[in-house]
Amino acid sequence: MGYRQSSWIEPCIFELGHRGRKGHDLPKAERSIIEEVGEVQVPNKIQRRSALELPEMSEVEAVRHFTRLSQMNYSVDLGLYPLGSCTMKYNPKINDKLATSSALTKLHPYQDEETVQGILEILYTLGRWLAEITGTFKVTLQPAAGAQGEFLGALIMRAYHTINGKQNSKTELIIPDSAHGTNPASATMAGFKVLVVPSDKNGSINVEALKTVASKRTAGLMLTNPNTLGFFEENIREIAEIIHEYNGLVYYDGANLNPILGKVRPGDMGFDIVHINIHKTFGTPHGGGGPGAGPIGVSEKLEKFLPVPRIEYDGKRYFLSSKKPHSVGKIRSFYGNVAVLVRAYSYLLSLGAEGLVEAAEVSTLNANYLLKKLAEIGVYEIPYGSERPRKHECVLSVKSLFRKRGIRALDISKRLLDEGIHAPTIYFPTIIDEALMIEPTESFEKEELDRFVEAMRRIAEEAEKNPEKIRTAPHNTSVGRLDEARASHPQTLVPSWRVFKSRI
Ligand SMILES: *Cc1c(COP(=O)(O)O)cnc(C)c1O
Repeated sequence: MGYRQSSWIEPCIFELGHRGRKGHDLPKAERSIIEEVGEVQVPNKIQRRSALELPEMSEVEAVRHFTRLSQMNYSVDLGLYPLGSCTMKYNPKINDKLATSSALTKLHPYQDEETVQGILEILYTLGRWLAEITGTFKVTLQPAAGAQGEFLGALIMRAYHTINGKQNSKTELIIPDSAHGTNPASATMAGFKVLVVPSDKNGSINVEALKTVASKRTAGLMLTNPNTLGFFEENIREIAEIIHEYNGLVYYDGANLNPILGKVRPGDMGFDIVHINIHKTFGTPHGGGGPGAGPIGVSEKLEKFLPVPRIEYDGKRYFLSSKKPHSVGKIRSFYGNVAVLVRAYSYLLSLGAEGLVEAAEVSTLNANYLLKKLAEIGVYEIPYGSERPRKHECVLSVKSLFRKRGIRALDISKRLLDEGIHAPTIYFPTIIDEALMIEPTESFEKEELDRFVEAMRRIAEEAEKNPEKIRTAPHNTSVGRLDEARASHPQTLVPSWRVFKSRI
């Protein structure tokens, strides 16, 4: 399948259109309504003095502008998106349909409880399902992202140790070196000192090293399982026990929940707190910054610390309760990102328990299939546990290719764009040089996976014959290779029309 992305020299929307041109006309208000409502006086201090400089155009101009832009973009709906650790699965359209139905979009969070029983029921039920999936006692849906769930988890650890009179001695949070960058960031924001434990040569957490860093200062451990190398931590019970022995709490970064759905539950592995990335595992599109949701589930002894308001049910009606003296407070406004949560509800309802297990199995099968096929090419190295089965993802290294041909993981991923395939995650986890982190998810057919392998094979051959072509890729995309340092420098970054105008 050949690929060439559309390339438009597309102006900014502010440069299109014509003064006075319109997409829609609003009907004039009827006399009777004006008479009924009366004339509304906008207070002086909030009246606008100058005209808003908004683009003025017809509907067709606006549609064409955004369609052209979309043709220069890439998405999960277009093709393979193997961005490791991000679980970029296909999101069934039924989820969007439900989330955007007017029965939901016309709700307002300030509405009286009695008038929003439907959405409260959906959220309450979703919380119960997520508690079942994670093996936890209670779930809060408030956090807006995985990172916010981690931060909330760390706050709950702090509250727990405080109530036990240990707030001054429980100062350290232990995190493995293969962790996602948000883990140490969230722990630090919550006021903990982060201690890093190394991985062993098989890519698991080094249990002996963990024993030496765990102490009475340990507030808790934050662990990703399966980890970012795609391995399920084999000594998971022992790991949890080591921390519990010092009265620490164990936090499960559940961003990689996809391959264990319906197979094992973090709660059963001994974890006290778990977060779930709804936008990865449960059918909400992501990328480009959100919105998402990062609910957390906790064990029974931690329930009292969950944020308020809590959605509760007395057998007849759903209601919000804020009378929780031990709660860490509010973590996000209103009920959380409701539209995202409704998508998860729709996704879980349509897959059912068997569907979730199948998603877990197929995503695992796909990752192992890809790893095996890519290893056969003979150019991409497997840095850890070459014989060990993976869960959702696998990590390869092009360290030798870099040494021999000067081709980096960045170059390979750019060349993949020319094949119409989204780049994998690169340079992560940071413990692997020239890393390519590949997560196919369950939502790609075998032909698509084979197409990826063939593309990687072509790139490996090209590395011998024409390495320059790889180093200067991409060639078939609407935008060529960017200077990444310049593109993110405040002096060159143009995030808005106002900034653009101030620069010219
Ligand atoms: C994505 C991810 C996170 C952070 O989640 P966000 O929703 O992006 O804040 C944390 N840990 C791991 C392993 C992840 O893959």
